[in-house]
Amino acid sequence: MKSDRQLRLEVAWACRILAMEGHNDLTLGHVSARAADGQTVYIKRLGLGLDEVMAKDVISIDLDGQLISGAGSVHLEFPLHTEVYRLKPEVGAVIHTHPLHSIAWGLSSEPLKMLHHDSTLFYEGIPRFTDISGLITTAHQGHVVAQALGNSLAILLRHHGILVVGKDVPWAVLTALTLEHVIKLQLLSERLGDVPNEISAKEAQILHLQKFQDAFIDDYWNYLVRRARRAGSDVT
Ligand SMILES: [Zn+2]
Repeated sequence: MKSDRQLRLEVAWACRILAMEGHNDLTLGHVSARAADGQTVYIKRLGLGLDEVMAKDVISIDLDGQLISGAGSVHLEFPLHTEVYRLKPEVGAVIHTHPLHSIAWGLSSEPLKMLHHDSTLFYEGIPRFTDISGLITTAHQGHVVAQALGNSLAILLRHHGILVVGKDVPWAVLTALTLEHVIKLQLLSERLGDVPNEISAKEAQILHLQKFQDAFIDDYWNYLVRRARRAGSDVT
């Protein structure tokens, strides 16, 4: 089990990495991690861009959004996090951001094509949430989004952004980066006209298991943190 300090650091690094990879949008978007007690949520505070979050800017709240520790205000859309945690005990981290390609592609009804190894992370498809275009600010709205997510790793919130979940912060970050990447790839490939050569469903399942293994996640995460450091980030 990770300590509360480790979770704060992971959330802060996740914000920096997402900002570096095209998920930045003014002071909007947030990352959270669930603490070992299952009820405490570490989340970026309101008022900062993803690219400037420090570990001290990660506050803790309960599942009703009440501040437990840290200084600062809670994002209006905290129910996107808390209601997913309430509904899905296996989820340990939640990311909500507004990346451009995912928003654009979310306007369509196109299914995701298996065009690359990375696409296979989502071989079961990516649902779209179309009931509400506005902000998700109530427990009821958060619950409806969490239900629409189902067993998927990500959902596209039409006219708005993305919601991504993971068993922990490194997995959620890898999933969010991969989501935007594969959607960008699909949008680019559409310029070529019809692309008939998708990876078969059977191969996609095998590739999914080969590429997205727990054994690799520490290497991926540590690399992303090193890259953020090289770009000048420090969260302590
Ligand atoms: Zn939002």
